Amino acid sequence: MTRPLPYGRQVIEDDDIAAVVAVLKSDILTGGPAVSGFEAALAGIAAAPHAVACNSGTAGLHLAALALDLGPGDAVIVPSVTFVATANAARYVGAEAVFADVDPATGLMGPDHLDEALTRCGGLRPKAVFPVHLNGQCADMPGLGALARRHGLAVVEDACHALGSLQSDDRPTGACAHSDMAVFSFHPVKTVAMGEGGAVTTRDARLDARLRLFRSHGITREPAEFLQPDEAFDGEGRPNPWYYEMARPGFNYRACDIVCALGTSQLAKLDRFRTRRAELMALYERLLPPAARPIGRVSGGRPSWHIMVVHIDFEAHGTSRAAVMRALAGQGVSTQVHYLPVHRQPYYRGRFPGLTLPGADEYYRRCLTLPLFVGMDDGDVVRVAEALARLLS
Ligand SMILES: *Cc1c(COP(=O)(O)O)cnc(C)c1O
Repeated sequence: MTRPLPYGRQVIEDDDIAAVVAVLKSDILTGGPAVSGFEAALAGIAAAPHAVACNSGTAGLHLAALALDLGPGDAVIVPSVTFVATANAARYVGAEAVFADVDPATGLMGPDHLDEALTRCGGLRPKAVFPVHLNGQCADMPGLGALARRHGLAVVEDACHALGSLQSDDRPTGACAHSDMAVFSFHPVKTVAMGEGGAVTTRDARLDARLRLFRSHGITREPAEFLQPDEAFDGEGRPNPWYYEMARPGFNYRACDIVCALGTSQLAKLDRFRTRRAELMALYERLLPPAARPIGRVSGGRPSWHIMVVHIDFEAHGTSRAAVMRALAGQGVSTQVHYLPVHRQPYYRGRFPGLTLPGADEYYRRCLTLPLFVGMDDGDVVRVAEALARLLS
């Protein structure tokens, strides 16, 4: 019996396990040195001065929206081909997610798509754009950043697919040269795994401080920030030892030392993981039948592939996506679809009845995600390619 192939999975090695066990045997399980160590390691990889760890990519997106003070009456432009969390982050703070179309070949929102979405904001104030680096390929950040600046928009990169990707200017994703913040996820299907985990990088010390504030209930222990001197200080002007303040509620979005130790151990393997994924992608491209075409490639930069997506004209081959997925599953090959365009989710259809985005719909109609993970061997790729060739002949 051939082994089952998921579409993605983590690689956990003995040294990853040892790093976690070391924390478990230590005195500090949260708020300790493994958290700051992980933040420093990620800041190094992203070439950003600040990295704030949190407990999911979704929490990171929410923290970014809070740090920018987005709220009711504000519009956040979000590409429709993404995971629901990108748009939901705008809704968490009461802002509206206004969906942009994408390039049907790559699934990426470009400056023209952003421009068009800005004409659909109605009476809302356009305040921010959340570009998504889909599949590991980066959106045109110089182009999007320049347009955002002209319109006074803040920019938050959803980089959950793109840890280790170089952008078109050859800067690492997370450096935030054309954005205010970049958000990462360390869910087990992502390139680096923490179980559940996320982080936000930024160049802006003020945003870094706000992210940390909202990550931990909105509580500050910084005497310079206290608003109630009578409560905070004693007769000699010394801060009371028990005292902290909350000016506005935040959340508990902290990452603990246990998962951060795993994250740091995994980050050290990013180059190896990225290289093996690129090798598997190249092998797929050689072996796949002409009916299953790799998605369009952006020029410049260097993707760190998160998932392997092909485009298939299922109808032209006398079949359907569901039939192909079921047949592959019958042979132990799990596939997925990334994603049903978010504007077609019931919640967002209700907010924007009748909205159609032809690029997003075309990308969606043809896409299929094939297995891609570091633990695959070349024979697994041969097996998937041959199975697809049989099904599409
Ligand atoms: C995974 C993912 C998220 C959410 O990350 P979690 O860590 O699962 O919360 C957000 N956006 C995109 C594009 C993702 O792929």
